[in-house]
Amino acid sequence: MTVAAAAQAARTGTPAATGPTATAAPAAMAVRLTHRDTQHLDELLDRVSTIILDQDGVLWRGSTLLPGTAEALEELRRRGKRLLFLTNNSSRSRAQYRRKFEALGLEVQPEEIVPASYAAAAYLQSIGFSQRVFLIGNEGVAEELEAAGIDYVTLEQLCAEAAGSSSSNGSGSGSNGVASSAAALQQQWTAETFANLQLDPSIGAVVIGWDPAFSYTKVCYASACLREIPGCHFVATNLDSADAMGNGRFMPGTGCSVHAVETAVERRAVNVGKGGDWLLPFLCDKYGLRPEEALIVGDRLDTDVALGRAGGLLTVLPMTGVTTEAKLAAAELGELPHYVVPNLAALAGLDF
Ligand SMILES: [Mg+2]
Repeated sequence: MTVAAAAQAARTGTPAATGPTATAAPAAMAVRLTHRDTQHLDELLDRVSTIILDQDGVLWRGSTLLPGTAEALEELRRRGKRLLFLTNNSSRSRAQYRRKFEALGLEVQPEEIVPASYAAAAYLQSIGFSQRVFLIGNEGVAEELEAAGIDYVTLEQLCAEAAGSSSSNGSGSGSNGVASSAAALQQQWTAETFANLQLDPSIGAVVIGWDPAFSYTKVCYASACLREIPGCHFVATNLDSADAMGNGRFMPGTGCSVHAVETAVERRAVNVGKGGDWLLPFLCDKYGLRPEEALIVGDRLDTDVALGRAGGLLTVLPMTGVTTEAKLAAAELGELPHYVVPNLAALAGLDF
């Protein structure tokens, strides 16, 4: 299997065949490379100018840097590769991610970081959105919406507003019907509090990112917006099922929240993260990315590898994240990466 053949396979969508220079997985037709396959690695890296790197499961797991990450990034930069750090994780903004990189001793430029929180704001900008967002998410998406000049409101803000009105005017009902009705629903769900829920008329989109305070009340508010506000946009930062934690435990991903609301409204959200159709054209437009000269490194078949395969990029899966040998063996041929490496360092020809 040559790199040229793998590139052709990337463009045609067919899986890479195994070859004499690398050890193939018995049940998965992806080429296995280690740091010792120097000629093959050189050919592979010479072919690409941009390397898109997933973060969780590639650079780190949870808050722990994976061995060899810093050395691998340094080596890839030394070889003249442009790096883009792409994550479906929406819990942090670009600025917050940059601080995480720095805290872990990794030097990156802000423009190299593309989290799903930023993608959500960029998507709304791309469609000329000028109304208010009902946000189910944390400060990562909130910061990016603010940076893009997009107004938003959360259930927590509505409840705080109602509490403020209540304490200031002493009426107990609040002066803002929108806020007080949301607070009443949050306090106790009844047929009456739900029927009396008043929607903010300036809302024009529901955006869902990772939200550890996700709740049935939020599903109620979001579904009412999507069902009752004409033209209300529905945006998901990603549809990830679960994320690997450092202790071997998997935490439920944003996809769980998105699917709850999708089920309630019988409608699909626009997925602006990896695995959706919007992100790659955005990267090509914003960063001048040329898919035929790019390679994506990620640990998920349904997001990282899917994005690469759909866009004609070479795909590399390190075995440091959520994809196990059993998952690889069970995958359809069209879902497989072109290359499997033990870790990111191996792609850079380093032994860790
Ligand atoms: Mg990952």
